[in-house]
Amino acid sequence: MKIVITEFMDGAAVDSLRERYTVVYDPALVDRRADLFGLLNDAPALIVRNRTRVDAEMLAAAPLLRVVGRLGVGLDNIDVPACRVRGIEVIPATGANALAVAEYVIASIMALLRGAYLSSAEVAAGKWPRPRLSEGRETAGRTLGLIGFGGIGQLTARLAHALGMRVVAYDPLLPADAPAWAASGVARRELDELLAESDAVSLHVPLTEQTRGLMDAARIGRMKAEAVLVNTARGGIVDEAALAAALRSGKLAGAALDVFDHEPLPDGSPLTTAPNLILTPHIGGVTRESNTRVSTMIAAKVASFLNAA
Ligand code: NAD
Repeated sequence: MKIVITEFMDGAAVDSLRERYTVVYDPALVDRRADLFGLLNDAPALIVRNRTRVDAEMLAAAPLLRVVGRLGVGLDNIDVPACRVRGIEVIPATGANALAVAEYVIASIMALLRGAYLSSAEVAAGKWPRPRLSEGRETAGRTLGLIGFGGIGQLTARLAHALGMRVVAYDPLLPADAPAWAASGVARRELDELLAESDAVSLHVPLTEQTRGLMDAARIGRMKAEAVLVNTARGGIVDEAALAAALRSGKLAGAALDVFDHEPLPDGSPLTTAPNLILTPHIGGVTRESNTRVSTMIAAKVASFLNAA
């Protein structure tokens, strides 16, 4: 049985699949759709990250496909309803990269509130901006507002509590009597309340029709001027032009973005000239450790699905 892997996967996990299956592993396949379609002709299994679009066109080129393993958790690059119609199992790596994202969020908030770490170029150039950088803020005692309180949101809350932060969250799909609220000690809020009271806001919702454009100009405007915003969820949830304008006008103190409307960033993006902004290339969930965990989990789950089928 053939397994096609289109994006990077931990070598040991790929080797474990090679022991039992015919594996085509080429991390550059994601950018060669025509070749990929040819390979999928007789493959029952496909393993992807977030860049491979598993859409109707791809499914039509894969008549034998029975399982799609996702090396991560967001499923917005996969046409899940179309897979369901065909009886194709979609398997995400739930939980396996949550710690990497949660640590990224906390580190970003600390860096943005303190402000000091964006000064390397100035100090290297012989400047000494000590008065301005003596205004940095501590994290303890600040309020973190989580939008989306699922796996990653809840883990981020635990790390934030360990630093002495207060944590509130908005997640209308998680009922008020869900055990996660009492177990975590996180207070449930409406979105506008959360935006008004938080010193740091972090997004942990999937990209859906309901969350697209959620952080638009009006909602960014409801945040405190001294607050910071972190988006590791998905591009499309934050209005990038509105965020850049808020940073430039001082209506928001800082932001960290790991995900974007278009990845990589296109020429002329308003984000390229915005101040107090940390930009990373969609690596929030990717560390050495999480890559091993994610790849091992997906290799095991895809193999067990194929064995049982
Ligand atoms: P999860 O499914 O455990 O939690 C998502 C939460 O969002 C759920 O509790 C759900 O009720 C809530 N939600 C859904 N729609 C909502 C809405 N309209 N308003 C408010 N809350 C809503 O997912 P997770 O594992 O916590 O991951 C969250 C997201 O993080 C993923 O969907 C993915 O897009 C993103 N992610 C990014 C990276 C990265 O590398 N940057 C890595 C992992 C995950």
